[in-house]
Amino acid sequence: MTTTPETTAGLPVPPVAMTLLAEAGRLEGSNARYEKFLSDLGGLYRDDEAYARALAEDDGAPVYWVESSTSEPGPGGLITGISVLEPGSVGEEYAMTRGHLHAIADRSELYVGLSGQGVMILDTVAGDSTVVEIGPGQAVYVPGGWVHRSVNVGRERLVTLFCYAADAGQDYLIIEQAGGMASLVIKNGDGWSSRKNHDHHGYRSPRP
Ligand code: MN
Repeated sequence: MTTTPETTAGLPVPPVAMTLLAEAGRLEGSNARYEKFLSDLGGLYRDDEAYARALAEDDGAPVYWVESSTSEPGPGGLITGISVLEPGSVGEEYAMTRGHLHAIADRSELYVGLSGQGVMILDTVAGDSTVVEIGPGQAVYVPGGWVHRSVNVGRERLVTLFCYAADAGQDYLIIEQAGGMASLVIKNGDGWSSRKNHDHHGYRSPRP
């Protein structure tokens, strides 16, 4: 990993070259990484008993991680990274990320599938909900105002490239406070399907 370039105030920062190592789940040239473990994800899955069973059998490896590059943190900059989500399921639900709305809710994001088979669950605070496939050669543009989460519906790692406004921030609590997202992505034979999440009771307004 490299450090964020430092420049004299007012001058452009240097260009940043990155290498996408999809197989390894790494972004060479990134300057930040975080990992999420199953033990961090209490309340994420609807089936509490299945979550408790999964936790009892957990091997302690990360469920997903993110490596990202931030070179211009202010408005106008972009954060670029990869998200790597291991396959699996808890109860009837496939492995997924926590999901969020951007803290500055109108900030948009682009996701590009690199490897594996996934879907994104996308909700608006007003009550729209949709599910969009993402895999190699597929891109999903997430407009501002959409709560978003990635789900791994395949047997391999789901690796996606993302790029979003550097000042966007993340509001993770909005999903938890709503009883989860409006749609669930569940196992259905060898594939997946989506259904309404009956625990979802609507989103509060985004933070001002
Ligand atoms: Mn985002």
